[in-house]
Amino acid sequence: MQKKTAVVTGGAGFLGSHLCDKLLSENLKVICIDNLLTGNLDNIDHLFGNEDFKFIKHDVTNFMHVPGDVDYVLHFASPASPIDYLKLPIQTLKVGSLGTHKALGLAKDKNARFLLASTSETYGDPTIHPQPESYWGNVNPIGPRGVYDEAKRFAEAITMAYQRYHGIETRIVRIFNTYGPRMRLNDGRALPAFVSQALNGENITVFGDGSQTRSFCYVSDLIDGIFRLLLSDEKEPVNIGNPTEITIKQFAEEVIRLTNSSSKIIYTELPEDDPKVRQPDITKAKKILGWEPKVERSEGLKITLDYFKKQLDKN
Ligand code: UDP
Repeated sequence: MQKKTAVVTGGAGFLGSHLCDKLLSENLKVICIDNLLTGNLDNIDHLFGNEDFKFIKHDVTNFMHVPGDVDYVLHFASPASPIDYLKLPIQTLKVGSLGTHKALGLAKDKNARFLLASTSETYGDPTIHPQPESYWGNVNPIGPRGVYDEAKRFAEAITMAYQRYHGIETRIVRIFNTYGPRMRLNDGRALPAFVSQALNGENITVFGDGSQTRSFCYVSDLIDGIFRLLLSDEKEPVNIGNPTEITIKQFAEEVIRLTNSSSKIIYTELPEDDPKVRQPDITKAKKILGWEPKVERSEGLKITLDYFKKQLDKN
């Protein structure tokens, strides 16, 4: 039987590259498209030479031409860490809006199934806790995070419109905080920031008083959930994340302990609109995908720390 083909935008990024690995391991052909703005060829280096893998360097906010049959389009291109989208506000808005439009256009042209990488940021600074998919969110459209949050909310809206108006098959995953190998050490997110500070003996910068919470999912669990969603019949958004919640202060202390670091925590200003709490309600994913995370934080952090150590040794 002929292998199916998947296009992954943002395929050289942290999540995109793990998704390429997963799709190839499930016997699909993969066309990875990335402009390498925040993605990195190192993440897909091991895939060159695989005859089922093709890389195209391209900015998906522009028209995308892909030859041949395509069965799935998975749209993962976007800056995704707060400091990235603060540095790249226009690109973030463009890839979430124009990029999603182009990726949907490709899916329509090829009669392919489309999956959108959406985000827990669609819930903003939530007033409901934990967050179920039915919650419409509390987003400041004109704040610094608005460029990401509103782009992703627009992306969800246009995805639903293509489904309703053009009848294309679409799936939407709302991704919560995820960690694992291939995260960039300098991407500014809490885990890579804390680990590089701890390993370099620098102060650990906790923003605010550290009482804000997050719930961290190991990357293999997340990718497994996304793959199940892709193959499911669910047309409306599904949260994928790990519901085990922790304060950022506790998280910093955990990193200090795991790295045997003598670093001290310092408290700095809390960024504007930083969500005070975040925890996915995964009732829907459990019920319709038979999915729940399996990797404990202690286990996932160990693997990720080993990866970060190797990266630091290289530099
Ligand atoms: N954070 C922190 N110190 C850092 C980086 C992040 O205290 O050096 C906090 C940040 O303010 C937020 C949480 O850690 O409350 C998670 O931030 P991250 O950038 O990982 O992603 P977010 O969940 O905000 O999108």
